[in-house]
Amino acid sequence: MLTIRMHLAVEVFAGSGHLGAALASVGFQVILWDVELSESHDLLIAHNRLCLMRILGACKFAHFGIPCVTYSAARRGLNGPRALRTAAHLYGLPSLSASEKMQVHEADVLTSFAIKCVNRLRTRGVPCTVENPHTSLLWRLPTFLNYMVHPEIRYIRTSFCMFGARWRKQTGILAVHFPLAGELASECTSLNGICCYSDLPHQRLAGIGPGGMWWTRIAQPYPIPLCTEFAQLVLQQTQQNKIAEKLCGWKSW
Ligand SMILES: [Zn+2]
Repeated sequence: MLTIRMHLAVEVFAGSGHLGAALASVGFQVILWDVELSESHDLLIAHNRLCLMRILGACKFAHFGIPCVTYSAARRGLNGPRALRTAAHLYGLPSLSASEKMQVHEADVLTSFAIKCVNRLRTRGVPCTVENPHTSLLWRLPTFLNYMVHPEIRYIRTSFCMFGARWRKQTGILAVHFPLAGELASECTSLNGICCYSDLPHQRLAGIGPGGMWWTRIAQPYPIPLCTEFAQLVLQQTQQNKIAEKLCGWKSW
C-alpha cells in the first residue's frame, strides 16, 4: 500500500497556516515558514533563504503564498494605501517615496527567491503551487507570463466564496507538475453581487473591517474547505507520482 506518511510538505509565506494544517491532516510532515514565526524565518536575510532552499530540497510538495500587498490592485488610494505598482510600472512607480521604494524592493527580493525555489522544484519534477489574487500584478511579471505557456504548468482561477467565504476574492493558483490542481477551479460568476454559492451578497473588500483591520487583510487566510480539498489533491498527486516512479523507474529527486 502506498503511503505519504512522513513525506515533507512546506508552506512558505504560510500566514494562517490553514493549508499546512490540512496537509498535516492527510499525513504529510509539514513545515510552515512565515516571518511572523520568528526572525529566523525572515526571507529578507540571505542565510534564512539558504536554510529554506535546503529544506525544499527534501520536500514532495511546496506552496508559496507570495505576499501580494505591493502587487495589489485593491490599493487605489481612496481612504487607503495608494498603488505602488501599475501594469506599466511593475517594478514600482517613479513617484514612490523612499519608504515605498524599500517596500517594493523587499517584495521583489521575496518574489525573486520564490521564483528561484519554484524553478528548482520544477526542474526536479516536484509539484508546487504559487497563490496570489487573480488581479494581482504579480501575474504580469515576465517570469509568470512565461510560465503560462509550459505544459507542466497551469493557472487556475477560483473564488473564495465558492468555499464558504463571505467575500468573492477571485484567486489565482499557479500549479507546477500538479495537474490535479485543476479540480480547484471554481469561479463565482455572479454579475449582480449576489453569490452563486450562498445566494447572499458578497462582502466588499474595501476599507476598514471589524477590529480596525483592512478588509483585504481579514480576507487573507484561505478558507478551510478550500485547504481541505487542496490537501486531498496534493495527496492524490503525490500518490500518482509515486506510482509513475515505480512503473517507469522515474525518480524526480
Ligand atoms: Zn460568490
